[in-house]
Amino acid sequence: MRIKVLGCSGGVGPGLRTTGLLVDEEILIDAGTGVGDLSLAQMGRITDVLLTHSHLDHVCGLAFMADNLFGLIERPLHVHATRETLKTLQEHLFNWRLWPDFSRLPDPEHPLLVFHTLEPGVTKRLGDIKVTPFEVLHTVPAVGYVVDSGEGVFAFSGDTYADDRLWTFLNQQPRIDRLMIEIAFPDEDAELGRLSKHFTPGLLGRELTKLRHRPKLFLTHHKPGTERAIEQQCLGALAGWDYSHLKRGDIILS
Ligand SMILES: [Zn+2]
Ligand SMILES: [Zn+2]
Repeated sequence: MRIKVLGCSGGVGPGLRTTGLLVDEEILIDAGTGVGDLSLAQMGRITDVLLTHSHLDHVCGLAFMADNLFGLIERPLHVHATRETLKTLQEHLFNWRLWPDFSRLPDPEHPLLVFHTLEPGVTKRLGDIKVTPFEVLHTVPAVGYVVDSGEGVFAFSGDTYADDRLWTFLNQQPRIDRLMIEIAFPDEDAELGRLSKHFTPGLLGRELTKLRHRPKLFLTHHKPGTERAIEQQCLGALAGWDYSHLKRGDIILS
């Protein structure tokens, strides 16, 4: 399995894109602003989109991608998310006011977007890949994903804060080879992290002691301007872990 990082920043700026992972060219996990770097042909190859939650930095690319693909592809684009996330998208984004309802266009029998409800803990097979959503703690209902290619197991936390459900679920898995997990703020903004339900380096380091696996860590979602402080603080907070700060364009093989 080849995972291309289209974006993994906590915001936008020169060279920065928000969360999107392209798995084997056909599956998109989250649809942040990184989707805008794909060509029409690359967008047209995507068959399934998995969303972690409804926040704009993770879904805005889906709106523009649907608009780009309208009239270009013969088959629908399958969008998978929890019931709560789909409800938010339908009520607040694809509602004709903010953006057209592409789940009813060009006509309700042959829509461009088809929404599928994911149940946390229930595995879905997409081609050769098995994906299992698991609940995490954020300011809105949110999930992470365990993605099993048969050769390796990759886990992605999505946006999350300290919560035992995250570690309990990961500890139940037979193996976790790679874990992509967020750190949005430096330690001095721990209170902001608590309110907005995002990790800081010190908190993540303490929480990771609950994980029985020893995966390679890919750190993401740093807010623009905080990258250097977070990198410095991770040297102490994550000492002993094999980790890297993920960047747009990186490839993860799993
Ligand atoms: Zn979020
Ligand atoms: Zn986010």
